Amino acid sequence: MIKTEKIYYDDLYLTTCIATVVEVSEMGIVCDQTVAFPEGGGQQADKGCFLIEDNFKQSLKILFLNVKKGVGDVFLEQDFPTISVNTPIYHYIEVEYLRYFKVGMKVKICIDVERRARLTISHTAIHLVLMAIDRVRKGIITYVKGADIREDLARLDFFIHDKLNDDEIMKITECVNELILNDYKIETYAHVKQKEAVYWKCLDYVCACGGTHLPSTKYIGNVRITKKSKGKNLQRITIEFPNHVLPMELYHKD
Ligand SMILES: [Zn+2]
Repeated sequence: MIKTEKIYYDDLYLTTCIATVVEVSEMGIVCDQTVAFPEGGGQQADKGCFLIEDNFKQSLKILFLNVKKGVGDVFLEQDFPTISVNTPIYHYIEVEYLRYFKVGMKVKICIDVERRARLTISHTAIHLVLMAIDRVRKGIITYVKGADIREDLARLDFFIHDKLNDDEIMKITECVNELILNDYKIETYAHVKQKEAVYWKCLDYVCACGGTHLPSTKYIGNVRITKKSKGKNLQRITIEFPNHVLPMELYHKD
């Protein structure tokens, strides 16, 4: 089975790597390793480009527009939802550019660093909101139906009969902004049996999450949280972070 070494689990801030192509298909380009983070858990994927040398020794830059995990092994352990590990990673490119790729060739993979940084802020903001919601209304986070993590905002949808009210949203917002103001450290560490199964920790709050995370809370700036009813038992929370600071100093090419 083809699998891709996921360099981002060793170094989340590495933005380029040299890789060997191992599969070329309309699903995308698979390499032996990558720095590009796939979509998952509601988070949009990295975008970026391949740099390749064609037969005439000209350097070509071919964009990848999406990144997805393929099928791998199921990892089933306590604390973890069913996750797929040892998967290939598909970098989706326009079909017309597939002809430039051949199995065995070397390519350079570069991610769009600002997009990654924004998605990382958005993703981390969701964690802080979940922490705050758990403080304001214990247990409600088990009713999360889905998340939508984009560069400019994040959304959480809840199956909930007794919806969060204005006062609770205000308390949640205050709690998140206090967490940001105190610049609490965020740690991630792998499960002892599997480096692709990752825990996220901030203060005493621990959960299983292999997403992209900030090293501390300050970069989010502050949050604006709004709520919207999406039906009888469905509520959407939207989180915006207009005063974020991109942690560009963390990222490196080598
Ligand atoms: Zn996470």
